[in-house]
Amino acid sequence: MIKSIKGFNDILQVATDVSRPCSEWRQLEKTLVNVLDRFGFEQIRLPIVEETQLFARAIGDATDIVEKEMFSFTDKSDPPTPITLRPEGTAGAVRAVIEHNLLRGDNPKLWYMGPMFRYEQPQKGRYRQFHQLGVESFGSELPDADAELIAMTYMMWQSLGIDHELTLQINSLGEPEERRAYRQALVDYLTDKKDQLDADSQRRLSTNPLRILDSKDVNTQALLVDAPKLNEFLGEESQAHFAKVQQYLTTLGIEFDINPKLVRGLDYYNKTVFEWVTDKLGAQATVCAGGRYDGLVGQLKTLKSDSNKPAQSAPAIGFAMGLERLLLLIQAVNPFADTAACDVFVVAHPDVYEQGLKYAQSLRQNRPDLRIKTASATSLKSQMKKADKSGAQLTVILAQDEIDKQQISIKNMQTGEQAVYVDTWLFSAENFAG
Ligand code: ATP
Ligand code: MG
Repeated sequence: MIKSIKGFNDILQVATDVSRPCSEWRQLEKTLVNVLDRFGFEQIRLPIVEETQLFARAIGDATDIVEKEMFSFTDKSDPPTPITLRPEGTAGAVRAVIEHNLLRGDNPKLWYMGPMFRYEQPQKGRYRQFHQLGVESFGSELPDADAELIAMTYMMWQSLGIDHELTLQINSLGEPEERRAYRQALVDYLTDKKDQLDADSQRRLSTNPLRILDSKDVNTQALLVDAPKLNEFLGEESQAHFAKVQQYLTTLGIEFDINPKLVRGLDYYNKTVFEWVTDKLGAQATVCAGGRYDGLVGQLKTLKSDSNKPAQSAPAIGFAMGLERLLLLIQAVNPFADTAACDVFVVAHPDVYEQGLKYAQSLRQNRPDLRIKTASATSLKSQMKKADKSGAQLTVILAQDEIDKQQISIKNMQTGEQAVYVDTWLFSAENFAG
């Protein structure tokens, strides 16, 4: 028996061990897109594969994603091109923005939603194919752009009724040169304590020392208590930017915690980084994460131009949220109301089945708000059974008698009452309610 690939899940009309039903996905997506529309952000749809070097360059060689999580292949061209299933959306979005010159005279504010792929150990809230909603806002170096994105995520949580379940953590990574100075100080501090660090952190000391701050190891965390702090290395401009972001958040009534150890796993961030975390999902606590990446546009432009001269960058900030984790959280704290799978079921005796088809078709035409189901042209009894199972509020019954008298019978599926009507008046908008 051929099965789905490990970590790649079917999303069905019913809940499974690893996924909520499609009806919940659709309610979630609708709510999120509605908030994006209210902020005037615009959708983009990007390819699922990109050249491997795009991710390696954008995300950084010494990150978890590039080191061990990418699904990479070569295609059939000659010589073969290394390609990768996208592990995240920012690199592709920046590639597209450069390729199509979208930054010329404009500050695009863009969003996308779709599958991402990472080779990780599957567990609750962590899959190999998962889904993100991502937002990328280009062109403003000012802190209001940071606050706008955070305010938008906050409104999403409010719309979903989960705002009390999520806390906002923010930090500033400063500018690259400030971070470099801090990195050096951290390495200096940790080097003679190297053998007390956990194995991952020992390796990261030379590859990506800032990630050591993220370590879950208790001994490593104990060592970090007296380590130099990133915020002590921020220049005046970075500090002012961070202070202004905080001021905007306070004005908007959005509470936050400053987490000086929040560094994010990807290389491209500078200045503001943020995460929304919950205590309801165990180790998979982060539902949404983002930050500013003012250097990435320039960095990828340089890659494209084959020249060593750094290209002009454009400021940008973005975030991504994991839709599976959001659905788990919603299920845990404020589940979606069931949506009706069916409002009206049309049942027609096999002798007058064509009339039934016609009736259902015209009802759908006139009442696009209703879900109208029919069954195949089997016996009236077996069609009625299907109507019973469908969860419909009303069943319309048509047999020869009804056709002869130009009537329809309507059964209220809750009360079992059945009545005959001369016309379809019941389905006018005013009358259907209730
Ligand atoms: P984590 O620390 O949980 O591995 P991350 O820092 O790798 O997360 P990001 O790259 O910031 O995650 O992605 C943004 C969001 O996408 C995460 O906060 C999470 O909600 C979701 N996400 C990331 N990886 C997965 C995955 N393998 N399965 C499900 N959701 C994921
Ligand atoms: Mg990860």
